[in-house]
Amino acid sequence: MTEKVPILVVDDLPQNIMALEAVIADMGFDVITASSGNDALRLSLKHDLALILLDVQMPGMNGFEVARLIRSNPKTNHFPIIFVTAGMKDLLSQIEGYETGAVDYLIKPFEPIILRSKVKVFRELYLQRKVIERFYSNLEQLVEERTSELKEANATISHLAATDELTELYNRRYFNDRLSAAISAARRHSYHLSMIMIDLDHFKKVNDTYGHSAGDLVLKTFADLLRDMMRAEDVAARWGGEEFIIILPHTPGDAAAALAERIRAAFEQQSDRATAIVLSASFGVVQLHESDDADTLISRADAALYRAKREGRNRVVVE
Ligand code: GH3
Ligand code: MG
Ligand code: MG
Repeated sequence: MTEKVPILVVDDLPQNIMALEAVIADMGFDVITASSGNDALRLSLKHDLALILLDVQMPGMNGFEVARLIRSNPKTNHFPIIFVTAGMKDLLSQIEGYETGAVDYLIKPFEPIILRSKVKVFRELYLQRKVIERFYSNLEQLVEERTSELKEANATISHLAATDELTELYNRRYFNDRLSAAISAARRHSYHLSMIMIDLDHFKKVNDTYGHSAGDLVLKTFADLLRDMMRAEDVAARWGGEEFIIILPHTPGDAAAALAERIRAAFEQQSDRATAIVLSASFGVVQLHESDDADTLISRADAALYRAKREGRNRVVVE
């Protein structure tokens, strides 16, 4: 398919338009015609033009004014303009024509062959411009596609970097980042913040008795349970092998203890179902104190958990 090359022919006299059309008829142009300056401006905004053949003397807006307006609009200022005139032959008029930014100034009568060869040059330039425009538009599209692929890949990488593979809870590193931020926010806005540290009881025995994959399944079950019972703003992570940790913003210690107790009871319930596995976990609960930083908060939670173990496991200890 040969590409349509739009050319705008502007003249107030229909016979002049017809004469120009006849000269370029077989050159593969899509000839658009305008009989006034206003028409020409309107059409120049509508079409991507290879060339404008512009009459100078027209009633209303003359060719020079049309040319100046086309030049001053960023949408049309790259369209080449050739003036075609029978009347304005004097040198000053020619100079004025060139000063509007026109590429040529043809005085009638001219040799049709001359007009044809000039017009042909602009046809070639137009086709080259189109090739370049298409190239850049493909390039832009390609860059857009690659950018969105990269964004997706980055999102996947961030997710993987923050997530524990087995339980799909957050991992310890991500948790530590969130903990510092959560402590700062609680301090800044003066709200309560609590922490629950959890260790599954006699988990080694689960592995030893039922195998490592049964152990894995228990870890996943426990993680699901946490996800079900937490609030959206709570952050739970796998702290180590069979250890879990939760930060609870906007939550005082007694409310955190109540949640820990509900999780404890729900996990214990799981051991009754189908399997003969006995399941329980121990919980250490602390509320953020004035003097705490992330490390002391964790070590106090750890101490509470240790007490829960010592006092017989399957229980919640609040410190
Ligand atoms: P306690 O009540 O004192 O916490 O006893 P415990 O047996 O739970 O504690 P211990 O620290 O002796 O054992 C933890 C076990 O957890 C040993 C380890 O093999 C197991 N474990 C750690 N990570 C994983 C895991 O990803 N999958 C499985 N199946 N087991 C794990
Ligand atoms: Mg344990
Ligand atoms: Mg442990």
